Amino acid sequence: MAAVERTPLVDGFGRAHRDLRISVTDRCNFRCTYCMPAEGMPWLPREDLLTYEELARVARVCVERFGFDGIRLTGGEPTVRAHLPVLIEKLAALGVDLALTTNGATLRLLAHDLAAAGLRRINVSLDSLRADRFAAITKRDELGRVLDGVDAALEAGLDPVKLNVVVMRGVNDDELVDFAAFGRDKGVEVRFIEFMPLDAQQAWTNDQVVTQDEIVERISAAMPLEPVPESVRGSAPAARWRYLDGGGEIGVIPSVTHPFCESCDRVRLTAEGSLRHCLFATRELDLRALLRGGASDDEVADAIAREVGAKWAGHQINQVQFIRPARSMSQIGG
Ligand code: SAM
Ligand code: SF4
Repeated sequence: MAAVERTPLVDGFGRAHRDLRISVTDRCNFRCTYCMPAEGMPWLPREDLLTYEELARVARVCVERFGFDGIRLTGGEPTVRAHLPVLIEKLAALGVDLALTTNGATLRLLAHDLAAAGLRRINVSLDSLRADRFAAITKRDELGRVLDGVDAALEAGLDPVKLNVVVMRGVNDDELVDFAAFGRDKGVEVRFIEFMPLDAQQAWTNDQVVTQDEIVERISAAMPLEPVPESVRGSAPAARWRYLDGGGEIGVIPSVTHPFCESCDRVRLTAEGSLRHCLFATRELDLRALLRGGASDDEVADAIAREVGAKWAGHQINQVQFIRPARSMSQIGG
């Protein structure tokens, strides 16, 4: 078969897209307050989820046609879907930088198999180092298992292992320095995430957001930091700071106060096969209908190119015209 020509997937604002976020499932074994309601979250019927073959096909089209070089698996909680290493193996064969975002609760069981299947990097979400608070946030008493999962990821050779911390005023912002110290101690980068209006309960308010500036200021007061030069950052969403004493780095994802829309290179695939050009997009492309309707790779690629061609300049949180997406974080794939 003749080699397929690669054309960068450029939108109307000149941004080339290279990064695919795949939601493997909308289901989860936690109920983090900032993401899902404690009860009553409706799950997709299983037959609506893309199969691993369908997911891998979309990924292959993105890599072969558009030169994508990064794929991250997320959810919902990706590790609750059966046989995840099978999917990892299919995607690793595409030769991309393959990453996973997880709540970490099952990593002691899975980390080795995931690494052996070709996973390279991992982000573990952890919002409190105090057991009672962890249970209040996630509605699960599993801090010990998550901490053990972080160790299992390190032992399995996943590199880098990063921690994602959603910072919420009055909930966990008194642990900023504790998290920074924990990261230095373990040799893992902690990435502090500004709380975004994507919670299923729609309880988000602006005053719960702890801004990037405040996060850096409060940590730096205890352990002095300096910014890592912008050139190193590229299109990655995390702005980075390093400790003056050489003790490592932290990242901040300032989606609310300093959105990185200008350099965004991502597209997202939801668990049921809708392509979204932005986390906050108010439109989607139903790729599953194309895949199950017998579309060729050319037709799938053309549809993706049209959808990304229509991408907007950026989201408008904090402005009156901001429209919350109808779906919450776990339904889109964070
Ligand atoms: N279940 C996995 C996990 O928790 O890591 C993957 C899916 S989760 C939706 C992906 C990331 O989104 C997590 O780091 C989580 O903390 C973050 N997240 C969820 N809701 C958020 C919100 N409202 N604002 C900011 N980050 C959020
Ligand atoms: Fe589940 Fe992740 Fe959402 Fe928490 S943030 S409820 S672990 S999907």
